[in-house]
Formats: sequence, structure tokens, C-alpha cells
Amino acid sequence: MKESYDVIIVGGAVIGSAVAYYLSANPDFTGSVLVVERDPTYLKASTSLSSSSIRTQFSNPINVKISQYGSDVIRNFGDLMQVGDDKPDLAFHSGGYLFLANTQEQAQILKENHDAQISCGADVVLWSRAELADAFPHLNVGDIELASYGRSGEGWFNNTGLMYGFKNKARSLGVEYVTDEVVGIGRAGDRVNSVTLKSGQKVRAGTIVNCSGPRAALTAAWPVSTFRSNRGSAPCSSSTARSLPKARRTSITADCR
Ligand SMILES: Cc1cc2nc3c(=O)[nH]c(=O)nc-3n(C[C@H](O)[C@H](O)[C@H](O)COP(=O)(O)OP(=O)(O)OC[C@H]3O[C@@H](n4cnc5c(N)ncnc54)[C@H](O)[C@@H]3O)c2cc1C
Repeated sequence: MKESYDVIIVGGAVIGSAVAYYLSANPDFTGSVLVVERDPTYLKASTSLSSSSIRTQFSNPINVKISQYGSDVIRNFGDLMQVGDDKPDLAFHSGGYLFLANTQEQAQILKENHDAQISCGADVVLWSRAELADAFPHLNVGDIELASYGRSGEGWFNNTGLMYGFKNKARSLGVEYVTDEVVGIGRAGDRVNSVTLKSGQKVRAGTIVNCSGPRAALTAAWPVSTFRSNRGSAPCSSSTARSLPKARRTSITADCR
């Protein structure tokens, strides 16, 4: 591990590893990347616990587009993440989500969502009660007003396979992973510029990406200390420590075409 990286990613499960991959695979990015992961078994990571299913049935077209992109990535994952002869297979199982409305009000919501999904080209269908009974004869459809079903582009897959695919590919592109825990964040002025690891090491960072999942708020609240130099950094103490402002947010808009 070096003393300094352009980007340090806190958390190396699916999001941290995806960020590491997309950065390192971007020809416009030539910087160094370190991923700090406290538990390389990923025992309690959301990624390991996830049902790992993907759907296009959302109310917001941006979410539909994100999922359509995700489906493409999953479909082509072996080619995208191939390292040497190793082509990861996510064992994608196609299977649609079925949303059911049992009031007129809910049926109206399904119709509005359906319009948003269709506007993005999603392969979804609305079924009347009779059509639903035809498709799923084992269901008791007596109180169902309307159903929405994903005919393709929905299903489930190998969750840790997705994470290890990103991780292995990122490593092959030069990203470093270290088993340690970020327990402090250093700053210079209004910019964060280093992480303190549980092992005691302090590592400089141009940018820090918080990918620590459900612990993200904890990570953001780590005591902040002033990082004076590569060698003589001030330890975090209760007198210098203060939390990062949790209320500060950056708005990101995606333009779907
Ligand atoms: C039961 C369940 C079912 C789900 N089902 C679905 C689904 O069907 N479809 C779907 O799209 N999503 C689903 N999700 C959500 C999805 O799993 C998560 O959005 C995704 O896995 C989040 O990934 P992550 O990398 O952000 O977080 P995590 O997988 O939690 O990873 C965070 C990582 O950060 C590490 N870390 C934390 N703090 C530190 C620190 N200070 N220093 C170093 N490392 C640190 C942790 O050890 C961990 O490995 C589900 C989630 C759960 C819990």
C-alpha cells in the first residue's frame, strides 16, 4: 500500500467494487485507486444478503433506464469482466415481477407507472383479472382489479458473483484492495484528504468515496483530523474531532435520452 492515492473507496462490496471498476476502466482516468474493506468475507454486507433481483417496474423513468442499463451489464457481464480465461457467469434467471392492485386507486397508480415504463421501452404488460388468471391459474384473483407483469428484462442473479466480477476486473486494471477499517477522515480546509485506518496507518487521498453501505452514515460521521504531512499527522482526539456535515448533499440529475 502506498502513502497516497488519487481515490480511496471506503467499502469494497458491490458498490465500492463497481465504482473501482468504472473508474479504472475509464480511459480518461489515469489515477490510482485504493479500496479499503473491513471484512473481505462480506458476511454481513447487504450485497451478500441481497435477493439480487432486478426489475424495470418503477414509477420514475430514470429508475427504469438505470435498470435497463443494469440488465445490459448483467447480460454481457462475462465479456465485460473477463480476466484471462475467467469469464464470470451470473446465472441470470429471467422472471418477471408481478404487481397487483386490489383497489381502483391502486389500479390507477399501476396504469401511471405502466405509462412511464412503456415510455422507456420496458417490456411490461397490464393484465385484467381474467388475463391474470390465465397466466397464473394457481392464484386466487377474486379481489384483483389489475396486474402489472414484466415480460423480460427482470429476474435474479448471483449477487456475490456480481461483486467479485467487478472486484477481480478492477484489480486486474490496477486497483488495490486492503483489508482494514476506516476509522477517521482527515481534512485540509473544507476538503477531506486522508483516511485513518484501524491498523494505525494514515493514507492521503485526492478524493474519498463512501461506499460503506448501511454504515455510510457512521463513516461520514468519523472524527475529522487535520492531516499535516505524509509522516507527522495529528492523531484524531476528542478536542480536534468533529463530524462531517451529514446534511450536505450533492444533487445529481441524469438525462435519459
Ligand atoms: C435483505 C436484502 C435484500 C435485498 N434485495 C435486493 C434486490 O433484490 N435487488 C436490489 O437491487 N437490491 C437489493 N437489496 C439492496 C442491495 O443489496 C444493496 O443496495 C447493495 O448490496 C448495497 O451495496 P453496498 O456496496 O452499497 O453495501 P454493502 O454490500 O453493505 O457493502 C458495504 C461494505 O462496506 C464495508 N465497510 C463498512 N464500513 C467500513 C469502514 N469503515 N471501513 C472499511 N469498510 C467498511 C462493509 O464491510 C461492506 O463490505 C437488498 C438488500 C437486503 C439487505
